[in-house]
Amino acid sequence: MAIIVQKYGGTSVGNTERIRNVARRVARYREQGDQVVVVVSAMSGVTDTLIKLAKEITALPDEREMDMLLATGEQQTIALTAIALQSLGIQAASLTGAQAGIVTDGVHTKAKIQNIAPHEVHRLLDAGNVVIVAGFQGQTEEGQITTLGRGGSDLTAIALAAALKADLCQIYTDVDGVYTADPRIVPSAKKISEIAYDEMLEMAGAGSKVMQLRSVEFAKKFNVVFEVRSSLNDNPGTLVKEETRSMEGVVVRGVSLDKNQAKVTLFGVPDRPGMAARIFKALANSAVNVDMIIQNVHAGSQPTSDLSFTVDKPDLLKARKVIDALAQEVGIREVVADENIGKLSIVGVGMKSHSGVAAKMFEVLAEEGVNIDMISTSEIKISVVIELSKGEIATRAIHRAFLEC
Ligand code: ADP
Ligand code: ASP
Ligand code: MG
Repeated sequence: MAIIVQKYGGTSVGNTERIRNVARRVARYREQGDQVVVVVSAMSGVTDTLIKLAKEITALPDEREMDMLLATGEQQTIALTAIALQSLGIQAASLTGAQAGIVTDGVHTKAKIQNIAPHEVHRLLDAGNVVIVAGFQGQTEEGQITTLGRGGSDLTAIALAAALKADLCQIYTDVDGVYTADPRIVPSAKKISEIAYDEMLEMAGAGSKVMQLRSVEFAKKFNVVFEVRSSLNDNPGTLVKEETRSMEGVVVRGVSLDKNQAKVTLFGVPDRPGMAARIFKALANSAVNVDMIIQNVHAGSQPTSDLSFTVDKPDLLKARKVIDALAQEVGIREVVADENIGKLSIVGVGMKSHSGVAAKMFEVLAEEGVNIDMISTSEIKISVVIELSKGEIATRAIHRAFLEC
C-alpha cells in the first residue's frame, strides 16, 4: 500500500466548497487503496487577518503569543477537511502539528523542525483513516506551540513525506506548477515540467512564493521528490528533483521578483575589525534573516564605511530596533530604511557553464531605464535590487529577453 502526502494551500481550502473539492480528490486516492496524509494551510487570508489583529494592538507583538494565535488558522481547516471527508463516508481524523509528532526548536514564528515522531499518524493510517495534519505548526520539547515561518505548510508536507517515507508527495496550489515566472506578473510565463532542487531553492529564495524556501532545502537534504500541481484541475504539474544532465542545456530556468524585501543602510560605520560581526550577530540573535549585503569604505584619517543590507519586510521593525540600539553604542552616524525596493533574479543551473548572462541582464535593464541599486550572484543566480515601482516591468522585460526567444 502506497503512502501519499498531499498538501493543500490557502486558496485550495479557501471556502467550504473548495474544502469539499479537496475531500473529493482525497477520496479518489483513498479509493485506489492508498494511505493518504493531507496537510492543510489556513483558509486564504486567515493568517494575514490574525497578524493584522495583533498589530492593531501593538506594532511588535510577543512572538510566543503570535504562534499561539497563528496556529489557530490551520486548526480550523484540519477539522473542516476531516468533516468534509466524513460526509463523503470516508473515515478521517485530524491532528495538530504537535499531535502529529512535529518537534521544533523554540524560535517562535520561524521555528525549525528538529525531528518528527509520527506514531500517531501511523496508528491512525493503520486503523483505516485519512489523516489530516495542520501545516505550519509544531511544538517544542517543552510543549510550546511554534510556527515554521510564512508558507510553512509546504515544509510540514515535505518533512512528513520524509519521515513517513512516502511514495508520493504532492503540493496542491492555485497554479498548475512552477512557471518560468510568476504567471500573475508575466502572463506569457511557461510551465516547467521538471526543475532541479538547486534551481527551485534559488527561485524560492528569490521570492517565488510558490514553494517556501525551507521546504525545498529540506526536500533536497532528504531527497524528497515532489510535484507542484493545481487543486483546481488535473493537469500534470512540475516535478522537483535532483539535477539531471539535460537540465544544463537551459541557461535561465526562471525569473523571480521579490517585493517583500526592505533595505537598511547604515551611514558612517566606524571602519574597524569586528564591526560587521557585531552588527550581523545582533541581527541573528533576534532571528532577523539578512539577504544581500554591500559595503563601501571611505578612506581618510578616520575611515568609515556605509553598509546596506536587505531583510524581509515583516522583519524591518525588529531589525531597526536592533540597529538603532547598536548605532548609539558604536557610533553609527545615520540609519535609513527603504521599503520601496524589489529584488529581481534570474536562475538556472546552465549559468554555471555560460558567460555573458549578467551583462545581458544589465543591458536589458538599462534599455528599460531601470537603475540597479545592489547586485549579488551565486553560481546559478544573479539578483539585483531595483526600485519597487519598476519591478514588474523589469521582470517582463527580463523574461522576454531570456525566455521568450
Ligand atoms: P498556497 O496558498 O497554495 O501555498 P501560494 O500563494 O503560497 O499558494 O503560492 C502560489 C502562488 O505563487 C501563485 O498563485 C503564483 O502567483 C505565485 N508564484 C510566484 N512565482 C511563481 C512561479 N515561478 N510559478 C508559479 N507560481 C508562482
Ligand atoms: N497559513 C500560513 C501562511 O499563510 C502557512 C501556509 O499557508 O503555508 O503563511
Ligand atoms: Mg504557499
